[in-house]
Order: sequence, then structure tokens, then C-alpha cells
Amino acid sequence: MNDKILLVEDELQIASFVSRGLQHEGYHVLTAPDGETGLELAFSELPDLIVLDVMLPGIDGLAVCRQIREAQLQTPILMLTAKDAVPDRVAGLEAGADDYLVKPFAFEELLARVRALGRRRAPIESDAPLEFADLTLNPTTRMAQRSGRTIELTAKEYDLLELFMRHPNQVLTRDQIYDRIWGYDFGGESNIIEVYIRYLRSKLEANDEPRLLHTVRGVGYALREA
Ligand code: CA
Repeated sequence: MNDKILLVEDELQIASFVSRGLQHEGYHVLTAPDGETGLELAFSELPDLIVLDVMLPGIDGLAVCRQIREAQLQTPILMLTAKDAVPDRVAGLEAGADDYLVKPFAFEELLARVRALGRRRAPIESDAPLEFADLTLNPTTRMAQRSGRTIELTAKEYDLLELFMRHPNQVLTRDQIYDRIWGYDFGGESNIIEVYIRYLRSKLEANDEPRLLHTVRGVGYALREA
């Protein structure tokens, strides 16, 4: 699967130069011309990386970054800051950005940062056990544990639970789940998600443990406590 990058940049020339370059490198690029659109896409598209300009009309990049982190979205964020604006860089990292790049920059510099952030995330995504409440999911063995009990999962059950574990406390829409787990759209009529959620709940709640996978009516599902 190609990495999906969200680029939030109001300067059209920079946006188009960066976007074309990244697409040429094989990335799938979404662009947003302002902070509001950037936030919307960050939550609806769940990109693998966000390149975020600080100076934006409306909600600025720092506020966008803070809102993303407050919502527990852990997507790596690369901030683009103005030349000589040292306070911007510090503020960016304090707001939850992972790295920054000072404008003007050469495309190769941006690409190097993008790749580094991808690498930084990769080992975490492949190996480290994911934890939420009393639930642990081990990507290496593809098994779950709840309050000491080992839970075997089928391939799709694992994929679905991993998606929720990587986006805790966040409502995932049915479309997002289809897109991420099945890679295509069922047309909205299928009840396959409901079926898998039911399987997962029966396994996760086998000892009457409290529910972690909650239905958000009319929207989708969320992994959260109560
Ligand atoms: Ca700008």
C-alpha cells in the first residue's frame, strides 16, 4: 500500500511543487489549502504522514497540529516554518509536530524528512505491542490478550482490531473501515463490518469484560472505555 500524505499548504506554487514531487516518488498525496480542510482530511482520510505549513489562513498550522494531537491522532507531522522564525520551530514541536523544515527548502530535503518519519514509524507499526485499557495486541504473533487471557484472532479480525488499536478513542466511519481493511467500497449495504465487530466483541468479552468496541450510531465504531 502506498503511503498517503496530507499536504496542508495555502501557497499554490509550493503545494503543487511538493505534491508533484511526492507523487513522482510514489506517494498518494492529498492537499488542503487551509487549516479547516486540513483538519477534516486528517480525520476523514487518516493519512500516514502530514506535511503542515505553519502560516495558513484561518486556523494556523500550530492550532491544526494541537487539535490533531488533542484528538489522540498520532500521525507523524512535518511542519513547514518560515525562514528565521525560530520561535515557530519550537512552537511547532511543542504543539506535537515530529520534525520541521525551514522554507525555502529543496525538494530532496523534504523527501529525506518524509522518509525519515516513515522509517521512525515503521518499526513501531511492525513490532511493538499495542495496548489499550486491559487489552494488548501483538503485531508479531497477531494475537490479543485481555486480562491475562490469550485470544486467537482470524486474519480479518486481527486487521480490524489493529486498526482500532492504532486509532484509540477515535470514531472510525464505516467507509474508513472498508477502505482500510477491505480496500474497496461495499456500497454501504453490506453488513460485513457488523459481523466482524460481533465476532470481535464475543472474543473480547468472553469473560464478561466491559465493552471496548462501541457503536457510534449512524457513524461507525470507536475503541474506548465506556
Ligand atoms: Ca503558508
